[in-house]
Amino acid sequence: MLISGVQKFTVLDYPGKVACIAFTPFCNFRCGYCHNSEFVLPEKIEQIKDSFIPENIFFNFLESRINLIDGVVISGGEPTLQNDLENFIIKVKKLGFLVKLDTNGSNFEIVKNLINKNLLDFVAMDVKVPIGRYGEFYREGAQNLAPLQNNILNSIKLIMNCGVDYEFRTTIAKSFISRDDIFEIGKMIIGAKKYALQNFRKGESVLDQNFNNSINYTPSELEDMSNVLKNDFGIKLIELRK
Ligand code: SF4
Repeated sequence: MLISGVQKFTVLDYPGKVACIAFTPFCNFRCGYCHNSEFVLPEKIEQIKDSFIPENIFFNFLESRINLIDGVVISGGEPTLQNDLENFIIKVKKLGFLVKLDTNGSNFEIVKNLINKNLLDFVAMDVKVPIGRYGEFYREGAQNLAPLQNNILNSIKLIMNCGVDYEFRTTIAKSFISRDDIFEIGKMIIGAKKYALQNFRKGESVLDQNFNNSINYTPSELEDMSNVLKNDFGIKLIELRK
């Protein structure tokens, strides 16, 4: 599997666990607020490809972390675009580590296959926008929108019903996700166990620099939306990442 970067230690990215992160290059989405543009845009990937970490080096590192960390987060880019993701996970699990997958949910069949083979211990799926707005984020634009929308909705249903631990999450700011949009997303994940609303963070590496002019929701606005999501959409736990 292509590994574009490794974070050797994190207590923030796998709920309740100590983990490392393996980042994969390439993504089929173009979220303007993305902080990992160097793993998304082909021209940037080209610039860093010589620093990719060979799998054997990664696994040497991982063996040195046995009994020191609990798991591996596979993030991106979009990891389900990697052809040998399944084999990579099998090797990780053989070493006794838990596996968390970060995904945008666009490759439903791949997520389903990994879940059916008991290869995932946690799935974090970004629910970007209400389903009708997904064309704004999808690299292929409006042309192949219907299959994408089906995949997104099927991934949500699968993740909520498969028994694997999970969370949904949405990056928000007033300029690109309205309050009504957030409630539309609430309808898509009605009854979900956990949903994280994370305010957009400005930064130099943001994919579309225009997003750095965004205005975030205030803590009280977030609290208010959180209450509606809990009360009207039955979402059990809302985590606010202010
Ligand atoms: S935020 Fe995630 S899905 Fe969006 S472009 Fe970045 S890596 Fe891809």
